[in-house]
This record gives sequence, C-alpha cells and structure tokens, in this order.
Amino acid sequence: MNAGPDRHALQDVEELNQKCQRLEREIAREKAARRAAEDIAEVGLRKLYVHQGRLKLLNRISSFANDSDSPMHALRFALQEICEHHNWSVGHALIRIGPQGDERLEGTDIWFSTHQDLAFPFLEASRKILAWPCASAPGRLFLEHSPIWTPDIYAQHGFTRASTAERAGLRASISVPVIMGHELVGAMEFYQTEIAEPSEQLMDILLQIGTQLGRVFKRARHADMLLENAATDPLTGLPNRAAFESEIQSAFDLEKRTADYQTAVMYIDLDGFKLVNDTLGHNAGDILLNALANRLRHVVETFDQEEWVDRVFLARVGGDEFVILIRSPEVREIANDVANEIHKCLQPIHRIGLNNVQGVASIGIALNGPEYQNAHELLRDADVAMYEAKANGPEQTYHFAPEMRNAALARLELEIDLRRAVETSAFELHFQPIVSLSNRETVGLEALVRWRKEPDVVIMPNDFLPTAEACGLIVPIGTWVLREAFRSAVRFHATNTHNPDLYISVNVALQQFQQLHFVTLVRDILLETGANPKWVRLELTESTAATNPGHSARTITQLNAMGIKVSIDDFGTGYSSLAYLQTMPFDTLKIDQSFIKKHLDKSADWSFVLAIKHIADSLGMNVLVEGIENEFQGTELESFGCQFGQGWLFGTPQIEAHALPAGSLTSSDAPHAAKMLLEAPKAAMPR
Ligand code: C2E
Ligand code: MG
Ligand code: MG
Repeated sequence: MNAGPDRHALQDVEELNQKCQRLEREIAREKAARRAAEDIAEVGLRKLYVHQGRLKLLNRISSFANDSDSPMHALRFALQEICEHHNWSVGHALIRIGPQGDERLEGTDIWFSTHQDLAFPFLEASRKILAWPCASAPGRLFLEHSPIWTPDIYAQHGFTRASTAERAGLRASISVPVIMGHELVGAMEFYQTEIAEPSEQLMDILLQIGTQLGRVFKRARHADMLLENAATDPLTGLPNRAAFESEIQSAFDLEKRTADYQTAVMYIDLDGFKLVNDTLGHNAGDILLNALANRLRHVVETFDQEEWVDRVFLARVGGDEFVILIRSPEVREIANDVANEIHKCLQPIHRIGLNNVQGVASIGIALNGPEYQNAHELLRDADVAMYEAKANGPEQTYHFAPEMRNAALARLELEIDLRRAVETSAFELHFQPIVSLSNRETVGLEALVRWRKEPDVVIMPNDFLPTAEACGLIVPIGTWVLREAFRSAVRFHATNTHNPDLYISVNVALQQFQQLHFVTLVRDILLETGANPKWVRLELTESTAATNPGHSARTITQLNAMGIKVSIDDFGTGYSSLAYLQTMPFDTLKIDQSFIKKHLDKSADWSFVLAIKHIADSLGMNVLVEGIENEFQGTELESFGCQFGQGWLFGTPQIEAHALPAGSLTSSDAPHAAKMLLEAPKAAMPR
C-alpha cells in the first residue's frame, strides 16, 4: 500500500496552507500597520500644513504691526486676516478704557464679518459692549492674559449678546487679549457657526498675535507721550512756552474773526524766588514752584468756568515765570480780577522743611489791540509791564503802557553795561570814616563801591546795585569789593602804623552772603591779600541776616572765629526782629540814618534811637549811628552813650589817597570838613 507518501503529501499541503495563512495574516497586519502609518503621516502633514499656515498668518500680522503706528489699523488688519484664514464668521475688536481700578473693555467700530447682513444686530450690540473684569469673556481677559475658548456660547453663563448671536447663527467663540507688557490694552473676539473644541496650537498663535498688536499700542502711547512732553513743563505738569505760544497765536487769529472777544496776556513772576533756590536749595525751590503752580491752576480753573470768560489758559514759561491767556468780552476787568485772586492765593506762607517761605508775585498785563502784529509782541509787552510791577513791588500788578518800553530798554542797557564793567573791573572804592563819638577819632572806614562808567561819570551804588542784584552780577562785584577793600586795609596799615586797630568795613549783599562757601571765600581773600582779620569787618543788612537765619547765625559765628567782626547795617529799616538778633553774634548795630535825619534841634524825639541803644546794650552790642550830619546830632548821640558815628560831620566817602589824610583823620579836622559839607553837601559828594 502507498498510504505513507500520501499522508506525507497531505501533511505538506496542510503546512503549506498554514504558512500561507500566516503569511496572509502577516501581510494583512503589515498593510494595516502601513495604512495606519500612512494615516498618521497624513494627519501630521496636514497638521504641519495647518501650523505652517498659522505661522504665515502670524508673520503677516507681525510685519503689518511692525510698520503701523495706529493700533486701530493694526487691529482691523488682524481681524480680517484671522477671520479669513480660519473662515470664521465674525471678528470684533475692543479697547481698554478707564483708569487703573476702573478699567473696562469697550466695544469699537472695528469688526469683520463674512455675512454682514445676518451679523449686523450682533455687531451693533458688540460695538456698545462695556466689559469690566469678571469671570466670563471678554472681561475675564483682565484676569488671565491668554486666549479664552468658548466651545458653545449659549452654554456660557451671562453672555449678554446671546439673542443677537443666535440670530447670526454664531456658536463658538474665542477671545484674544492684546497685551502690552503686563497690561491688557485691548481684545479681539472671533465667532464661528459650529460648536468647536479648542486647539492649543491655535491658542498659542493667537496669543502671539495679541502680543504683536500690543507693540503697536506701546509705540502709539510713546508717541503720544512725546507729543505731550513737548508741550508740557515736566516739573509742574502745566503747559510750557511752546504750548502757550500756540494757544496765544490761535487766540490772536480768532480775535481777528470774532470782534466780541479780546485777548489779554498776563505775565507772573515770583518775587524773591531766586533767593529760595539759592538759600534753601533747588529742591526747596521745586517744591515751592509746584505748590504755587497748583494755587495758580486753581484760580485759573475757577475763572475758566465763568460764563463770560471764553478761555483762561495757564502755562509756565521759565524758572519762576508763569503766563496766563484770557479771552473774554470784558477782558480788562477779568484780567484785574484774576490778578487780584492770584495775589490773594499766593499770600499764605509755605512751610518747606524748617523754613517759612512766601511766594508772592509781580504781575504785568498786556491787552491785545490793533498795534499788535503778532502774539509774540503781546507777550513781550506783558513781560515789560511785569518788570515795571517788580520795580514798584512786591505784589504789584501793572498794565502795559508804551512809556514802559523805554524803562525796559534802559534796564537792559544798564545790565549790558554792567556786565562789561564787571569784565573790566570798572569799579572803585571810596572810604568814609567811622569815628568814636567820645573823642572823634577815626576807628574805621566803610568801603563804599562806585562804578566809574566814563572817566568823568561815576554811578552811585543805589543806581546800579539793584540791577546787579537782579541779574546776579552782585556776586562778582561783591567779591571784587572784598578783595580790593582787604588790599586797601593792608596798604592803610603799612602807612598808618600809629592806628593798629583801624578797620575797613565792607558791605556784603544778600546773594553774596548766602553763597555756600562764603566763609571760605573770605578766608582765601585774607590769605591772598595778607590782611589781618582784625583790619576788616563785614556789614549785613537786617533783611540779609533775617533770610535763612540758621545760615546767618552759623556764618557769623564762623567769621567771628576767624577774627572778623560783623555789624548789622541800616538797623530799623528791616524786620527789626529781636528774636533773631539774639541768635546772631553781631558786634555792632548800625542805626539807620533815617532816624537821625530830621533831628536838628532840641525838639528832636530820640525815643527810637534810645530804644535801640537799650536793646544793643542788653545784647552786648556797640551802637554806631549813621548819617550824622551836624554837631547837634553828634553831641546828642554821644550824650546817650552811642559809641560810634558816621556821617558828613566826620567825613564824606573819599578815594583811598584822601581817606586818611596826613595819618588819620582826627577830631580837629572834622568840624572843618563838616562845615564844608553843610554848606554844599552835593558839591562835596565825590563824583
Ligand atoms: P550804607 O552801607 O548804609 O552806607 C552808607 C551810605 O550813606 C553811603 O551811601 C554813604 O555815602 C551815605 N552817607 C554816609 N554819611 C551820610 C550822611 O551824613 N548823610 C547822608 N545823607 N548820607 C550819608 P552810598 O555810598 O551811596 O551807599 C549807599 C548804599 O549802597 C550803602 O548804604 C550800601 O547799602 C550800599 N553799598 C555801597 N557800597 C556797597 C558795596 O560795596 N557792596 C554792597 N553790597 N553794598 C554797597
Ligand atoms: Mg553799610
Ligand atoms: Mg547803612
């Protein structure tokens, strides 16, 4: 039988079949795997494609944002690009408004829609929306600065635009923040008609788009700030000169067209502000300026609300200079009222640190008229009127008058000449004897400055020192006087050895005395000239001493320590405050000549002089009486115990060569000199 091989054959077939089946299964598995791999690859490719599309979208919006200065244009562009790219039905932009603490998102007119007719009611509702920070979009964007996906807006609690959204067939939404740094500055909302689930990648791209748009907001804000800064005074926040000039020019142009209104310009300059800066420092000056600017602002705001006033505009145009423009049918009256209010509001004292400071002002007003060709001329004349007010000040208001221009020109000329005089040291010192009233011996000489303007023209101190003080030239002039006076002292002592205690008394102006290094300056000049401190004295007026009393007391003490005595000059004409007198170690109190002048015979009332003598005694100070012109005065004052005297009776100011004729002026020469002067005091004055 042949069963063996058949069975074998059958077995082989069986195995073959099984193998085939295995192979088929394997092939099927591989196919499935390949199909799955192909599917995966296709999805990946598709995703990649989608992602690339989104990156291109981001790129387009970024480069538009880079070139744009307008946040609104950039938002409009972005809305359209995003909607078109994703085939979304509606896009709408919101911007942030309100101050911090009350910030909101407000709907705008910027929108995009693929089917406007249907979406219109929804867009109208969106335009009016106001969204405060809250739990649902778009207000929620304030709380989280990342896109918020709402798969189904009807499922969202509190969606106020639901009915109009339904009519437009809208379903899913995404809200995208527009952020600048850490600040939400706007938002975009997009709507589509299908319920949709969020995609992280899309959210990420939208977030980046929002950040790019934020950069446009930042640039625009920066540009706004630059514009604002260009027109604003950074210290007070008031409009600056540029802003004022443009305001006054528009008022000027307007006046040409509307005859009912007239324009006035008011120039306000603080009296003595420089002193605050110089004595208390710039910080104190800034604090004062800010406080005064606020008071002015308040006055201006009050008048600006008046019915018959069209415009009141305040600006700061210089260190302590403010200007106000007024437009009104009754401009003269209003300007006067404003000026009065300003004087009133500036009066209350300011406390800066330990100091009481007052910031009163001089005001000049110019009213527009046919003689003015441009706004600049009006401003200039208000300034001229202010100078006139200052010259008659403090706290004065003057209206411009054409004659004032001449005075202003003269002042300007004087200042220019004075500057030249400082450069060429065109000054000289004259010396007036100070005598001991008991024996009429000359104990000292007061150095008095004169300006030799031309070889035969001498200008007296009262005619140029106020200008020198106003323009700061008093400091170099004062230093020149100190040096020359000290040199003279050295020469006097070289030729008058019999009078070893003779001193030269030098007047020191406020600005000079307030210099931080005044004591060092005096010491340097002593060293430089070789003068003995005993040979020089300094004179301060009461107002100089009373300004910044702490500094005065310290400086006088330091000068005393160096061996220099200090007198208080013109006593009785200033503050005459006993309180500060006690704190300042003056050696001598000089009674002002105004208390002596009228006392010519026995009817004279010496009570004021006696009172001052009494005060000086109690403070341990010597008394020097100024302006003694006749023997009666000299004898009377001596009988009261006044130690020293100065005046025509003892000698007029003389140039150095004549100041101490023949080895010091003595009592025997004095009556003769006095007689000469009494006969012709003017002719005897050195000119
Ligand atoms: P002062 O310091 O009180 O000086 C006295 C002034 O009175 C001097 O006027 C003097 O000539 C004048 N005089 C003196 N005796 C008599 C008199 O018997 N009768 C009258 N009617 N007048 C008399 P001058 O030289 O015109 O100086 C005026 C003021 O100018 C000074 O008053 C002083 O305040 C200031 N001054 C003068 N020189 C300087 C200076 O170098 N520096 C500073 N800062 N001020 C100065
Ligand atoms: Mg003096
Ligand atoms: Mg005096």
